[in-house]
Amino acid sequence: MQKDQLFTRRRMLLAGAAALGAAGTAGIVVAAGGEETGRTAAAPVAGPQARQALKPSAFRLQPLTGDAPPRAVPRRLKVRDEPVLRISGGGRRMVLTFDDGPNPEYTPHILDTLAKYRVRAMFFVCGECVVENRELLARMADEGHVVGNHTWTHPLLTELDRHEIRSEMESTSDAIEDAYGQRPQWFRAPYGAWNRAAFQLGAQMGMEPMAWTVDTTDWMEPGTDTIVDRVESGAAPGVVVLSHDAGGDRTQTVRAIREWLPYLIDSGYHLTVPARRA
Ligand SMILES: [Zn+2]
Repeated sequence: MQKDQLFTRRRMLLAGAAALGAAGTAGIVVAAGGEETGRTAAAPVAGPQARQALKPSAFRLQPLTGDAPPRAVPRRLKVRDEPVLRISGGGRRMVLTFDDGPNPEYTPHILDTLAKYRVRAMFFVCGECVVENRELLARMADEGHVVGNHTWTHPLLTELDRHEIRSEMESTSDAIEDAYGQRPQWFRAPYGAWNRAAFQLGAQMGMEPMAWTVDTTDWMEPGTDTIVDRVESGAAPGVVVLSHDAGGDRTQTVRAIREWLPYLIDSGYHLTVPARRA
């Protein structure tokens, strides 16, 4: 009987989360300068978009040669000098992120657990893993997860020149678009090692930089209980949780999420993903 009550409670929370998601997506992002997502048609805008908004018929003046599909031209973003560390917008929202995959051994189990509780998450993937596991990217797309760019080979960006960083980021966005169906709108630097070039190039490619609030330290394989404790004690509104679905033995990560995810849901948290910009 207790089980039934728990089940009902979870269902109610999920229903609430769904309604909130519909009403509140515009406010979810972003820590500083969230104007990129919350903008309405009437809000003042700058740059080429502004001209287009003021003169909706201007496209007729463009030659109809169809050189490139519009979606291939990423929207330029403001260049930040620090990554997003947590989400704003109020409410008991949290974002779950999984880095370094996809991995055929661990990622499917994490996707299964997320599906069981109807929770969406973010996966910051590496290009070299994407090309080996395209079907996992397709599954992420089918199940509503957000895929971000985590470079091709997971290098320390601070040791690369600008050309190398661009190559790492661009090739990964290409692989994601190919396997997932859309170019990524989020970038995360390996090891959390950011530099100016990474912020500039990310903005050029239409990607916002995202870091995290709570590190599960699963990459150190500290034991399932420690990972669970890290998430549960770190839970708070706006928190972005970092886990890893590849890069080593992630058995503990897979086991831990089966414990901490229902705990977060029962604690009233809405696990959400940032709204996609138009
Ligand atoms: Zn990583």
